Amino acid sequence: MAAKPTGKDFIRQIIRNDVDTGKNDARVCTRFPPEPNGYLHIGHALSICLNFGVAKDFNGNCFLRFDDTNPAKETEDFAAAIIKDVSWLGFDWENRLTHASDYFEEIYNCAIELIEDGNAYVDSQTAEEIKNTRGTLNEPGTNSPYRSRSVAENIGLFERMRAGEFENGENVLRAKIDMGSPNINLRDPILYRILHLEHQRTGNQWCIYPMYDFAHTLSDAIEGTTHSLCTLEFEDHRPLYEWFLEHLDLPNQPRQIEFSRLNLEHTITSKRKLGELVDKNIVNGWNDPRMPTLSGMKKRGYPASAIRDFCHRVGITKKDKSIEMALLENSVREELDSSAPRAMAILNPLKITLENYPKGSSEQIQAKNHPKDSEMGHRTMDFGREIFIERDDFMEEPSEKFYRLKPGGEVRLRFAYIIQCKEVIKDKDGNITELICNYDPDTKSGTGSSTKKVKSAIHWVSASDHIKAQVNLYETLFSAAQPTSEADINTNSLKILEDVVIESSLAKAKARERFQFERNGYFILDSDDNGIKVFNRIITLKDTWAKIKNN
Ligand code: ATP
Ligand code: MG
Repeated sequence: MAAKPTGKDFIRQIIRNDVDTGKNDARVCTRFPPEPNGYLHIGHALSICLNFGVAKDFNGNCFLRFDDTNPAKETEDFAAAIIKDVSWLGFDWENRLTHASDYFEEIYNCAIELIEDGNAYVDSQTAEEIKNTRGTLNEPGTNSPYRSRSVAENIGLFERMRAGEFENGENVLRAKIDMGSPNINLRDPILYRILHLEHQRTGNQWCIYPMYDFAHTLSDAIEGTTHSLCTLEFEDHRPLYEWFLEHLDLPNQPRQIEFSRLNLEHTITSKRKLGELVDKNIVNGWNDPRMPTLSGMKKRGYPASAIRDFCHRVGITKKDKSIEMALLENSVREELDSSAPRAMAILNPLKITLENYPKGSSEQIQAKNHPKDSEMGHRTMDFGREIFIERDDFMEEPSEKFYRLKPGGEVRLRFAYIIQCKEVIKDKDGNITELICNYDPDTKSGTGSSTKKVKSAIHWVSASDHIKAQVNLYETLFSAAQPTSEADINTNSLKILEDVVIESSLAKAKARERFQFERNGYFILDSDDNGIKVFNRIITLKDTWAKIKNN
C-alpha cells in the first residue's frame, strides 16, 4: 500500500481527516475554477498547485472548470490561453475540462426547485432599489414588495425571463433567505439576472445567467467536488454556499475551505488590473516578460518547475501574505543553476587589442559548459589578438576594492590568459574606445605553467569570432513593493541592449534554450527573427562577479 500522504498544510490535514473517516466514500475531488476574463497570474499558480496537488496526493481527480457565467467579460481566447498555461505549469486534467455553462440547464432547474419550495422569488425592483434596500453592515435590509409573490406567479415570471420577454434589469431572481441577516450575502442574494448577450459557448440559447455564488456551488455539487478550495474573500460566502446545499436536492455535498491569496511584492495579482496595463499599452500584451502572468513568466524564461517550487515554498495558510520577489527568484535561480549551460556574452562591449599576440594568428580555448557538471562537456572558443570585455570591467580611476582591469593592472580572462592593461585609447570627446593590453603566454588556464595569481577573472568574447545579439533586461514592473496606483509603475522596467556580442558557439542555440551568460545572469533565446538573436534576461546572478574563481 502506498504511504498515506501526511497533512502538510491545514487543508491537507482536513482532507486527510475526511478521507480517514470515510467522508464522500473516502473520495477526493477538487477543481480549479478560473473565469475566462483574463490570463492566469502567479496567484492562480498557487491555487492550481494546491488543487491539482491535493488530487494527486489523495489519488483523486481535479477538474479544470471554467466559471463562465458573465459573457460580458469573458472570451474563448482567454479560455484558450488559460488551458495552455495550466498545461505549461505541468498539470493534466485529462478528460475533466468543464464549464459552468455545461450545467446551465441543471442550474436553471435548481432555481425552479427553489421557487417551488418557496425559497426564491422574482423581484421587479430596479437595481438601484435593490441596492438601497440591502441595508449596511450595521443596519438590516428591508423586504422587497415582491417578496411574497406566489409560487405560481414566480414560476410564470421566471419562465418569461428565460423566454426573453423582459429587458435587462427588469427582473431578477432572488433567494428568499433573510433581509435582516448580519451576513449581507444572505440578504436575499440575486441568483439570476437578465443579460441579452451572446455567450461564448451557449450562443443565444440564454438571456438569463446565474450569478457566481449560485453557479459555483451547483457546479461543485454536480461535478462531485468534495473539497471546494477558494481564497479567503469567499469566507463570508460560505453560509450561502451551505444554504444552497441544504435547500436543494443535490447529488453531492462539497465542503468549502478558504485559504489566503498570494500577493507578490512589486507587482499586482488581479486580472482586471493586469488587463488595464495591457489595454493602456503599458506592457506589450498579457505575456510581456515583466507581467506576473504565467505566460509572461514563460516568455521571460522562468521554468515551470521553478514556479511550482515557489508555490510549494509559499505554502497554504490563512494568513494574509505578501511574498518577496526574492523568494520566487531563488526558486528560479536554483533550477537554472543546475540546468543552464554556461556561455559568454558581452552586454556592453569594450574592445581590447593584445599587442604582443601574434597578428593574424588565433587559438582554440576549451571552456567548461558547467562548473560543477562535467557531463555538460566543453566547447571551444576562439581566442586571438582582439577581444571584447565588459566596459564595466575596466576602471580608469579605480576604487580601492576594484580588482578587475585598470591601467597597469592585471586580470585573468576566464579559461584563457592573464592580461595587463598598457594603454587607454579615447576619442576626441574623451570616451574610452579601446584598451591596449599585453597577455602573458605562460598563464594559460589549466596548463599550470605559471604560478602567477590575480584577484579576479572576467569573461570575454573574441572580436574576430563572435555574433551580435539583442538583449532585453527587465526590472520589476512597479517600484513600490505594494503598488496602489499607476504612479508606482517603474518606467525603467525594460532596457533593450542592441549591441551585445556573444560567443560564436551560440549560433546554434535554439529558441527557448536557456543559458547562464557568465557573470551577467540567466538568459533565454526568445526569438531568432530576421537572423538577429534576441535574448531575454530571465534573472540576474545573485553574486555578479566575486564568486568567479581565479582559475
Ligand atoms: P482576479 O482578481 O485576478 O480576477 P479571481 O479570483 O477573480 O482573480 P478567478 O479566475 O476567479 O480569478 O480565480 C480562479 C481561482 O484562482 C479561484 O479559486 C481563486 O480563488 C484563485 N485565485 C485567484 N487569485 C489568487 C491568488 N492571488 N492567490 C491564490 N489563489 C488565487
Ligand atoms: Mg473571480
